[in-house]
Amino acid sequence: MADNRYDAIVVGARCAGSPTAMLLARRGHKVLVVDRATFPSDTVSTHLLHPPGVASLRRWGLLERLEATGCPPIDTYAFDFGPFTISGAPGTDDAPVAYGPRRTVLDKLLVDAAAEAGAEVREGFTVSEVVVEDGRVSAVRGHGRQGRTVTEHARVVVGADGRHSSVARAVGPERYHERPQLLCGYYTYWSGLPMEGRFETWVRPDRGFAAWPTHDDLTLVIGGWPYAELEANRDDVEGNYLAMLEMAPAFAERVRAATREERFVGTAVPNYFRKPYGPGWALVGDAGYNKDFITAQGMHDAFRDAELCATALDEAFSGARSFDAAMADYQLTRDRRVLPMYELTCELATLEPPPPELRQLLGAVHGNQEAMDAFARVMAGVTSPAEFFSEQNVGRILASA
Ligand SMILES: Cc1cc2nc3c(=O)[nH]c(=O)nc-3n(C[C@H](O)[C@H](O)[C@H](O)COP(=O)(O)OP(=O)(O)OC[C@H]3O[C@@H](n4cnc5c(N)ncnc54)[C@H](O)[C@@H]3O)c2cc1C
Repeated sequence: MADNRYDAIVVGARCAGSPTAMLLARRGHKVLVVDRATFPSDTVSTHLLHPPGVASLRRWGLLERLEATGCPPIDTYAFDFGPFTISGAPGTDDAPVAYGPRRTVLDKLLVDAAAEAGAEVREGFTVSEVVVEDGRVSAVRGHGRQGRTVTEHARVVVGADGRHSSVARAVGPERYHERPQLLCGYYTYWSGLPMEGRFETWVRPDRGFAAWPTHDDLTLVIGGWPYAELEANRDDVEGNYLAMLEMAPAFAERVRAATREERFVGTAVPNYFRKPYGPGWALVGDAGYNKDFITAQGMHDAFRDAELCATALDEAFSGARSFDAAMADYQLTRDRRVLPMYELTCELATLEPPPPELRQLLGAVHGNQEAMDAFARVMAGVTSPAEFFSEQNVGRILASA
């Protein structure tokens, strides 16, 4: 391993890859991060960055850069269940607001931060092969836009290459807690639809939709229906999207007064965990763990993976711990932190009406500001659903209703 050119090669340079590369480079490791995209670059994803993601940016010294882009802060989350709306503050003292930055802006900021930290960044570089020798990943083979194929060696290849990860495909990691696609979502951007610092979402039978502000005075509106309706609705996405908004007439009225500025983009994603490490390889972000976008957790989950994985790799590179021990901790911590939200996300993504006990609880939360803030923090990924839905907490909320 002594003659490896890099300590780590990170494949993919967005929310998971660039922070992983940045954090490793800041600790003095020799890192190459590659992406077939050139930045700024958009991707198929909406981009609500909940307060935990904002807190990561603050820790990394990058929040001021995001604020300087003029991205409007979001201080209120409102959940309209039809008969009532739960409206609360999602933030903490550390990170009081959320943001909805365009990925063209956020991902570029992250790539630049990786380069500044000393990572070598190669944009427009496609990894075509992950080299496995004697059961261990040792290198990647790939090419830039000019087409010449090169092989680069590293002690560890980190797959930050998203749901269709070529690193994961090469190593075939164990998969667990798998669920199929549950909903399909479509989004676009509107001008003339002011949000006044609010993320708003509407829960309706077989439908869910949400809106929040982003750069350039635009508002993103995403909505979805059950995956089973994908085929039936795919020929008229706009008609079905607008009909869905009519289920919240006041909001539909606001959208009618607005102007659509971009085309519709849509997709559906599977839900899974993959074992995130093995000999010579690691996975971060969607490459290692993916869930439906209904709860918008992916970006801050990717940030958290980057921190956990970079810490574990640093321990392994410095000899403080064995690779297996450090990476087993990464997996354990990741899974423990995200599993309750994963379960809740999969439940919400069915778009089935809340069961009676949950309806009763939500009714009790409504109007109790402390409980509404706590609910907003659960949906923001600040507080674990396990804590909020614990018998003791539910009992307390019901008792004070
Ligand atoms: C419709 C939708 C809406 C969403 N909304 C939200 C939201 O509001 N908030 C939120 O937090 N999350 C949201 N998510 C989830 C979020 O997009 C992801 O969790 C997040 O982007 C994961 O980041 P990543 O870096 O792991 O992967 P990705 O963002 O997928 O980045 C992977 C990168 O790897 C590169 N790559 C892949 N293969 C190769 C290769 N062979 N060679 C070189 N480069 C390669 C790609 O070019 C890409 O740039 C949404 C997802 C979807 C699909």
